[in-house]
Amino acid sequence: MFSKEKIVIAYTTENCKSCNMERKRKFKEGDYLFAETFKCNSCEGTMQIEKIFGEPIEK
Ligand SMILES: [Zn+2]
Repeated sequence: MFSKEKIVIAYTTENCKSCNMERKRKFKEGDYLFAETFKCNSCEGTMQIEKIFGEPIEK
């Protein structure tokens, strides 16, 4: 019996502090919690990393 191999993909969730827009993208090297990243697309606010998590993918 072989156990199934699992691959974990890391994701980053960004949240705009002004309009609360949320965006999920793949984790990128250098991302860390509460880092300010890009300008928000829908307002002049700044996006902030809110969550970094991994989602396992069954192979
Ligand atoms: Zn915004």
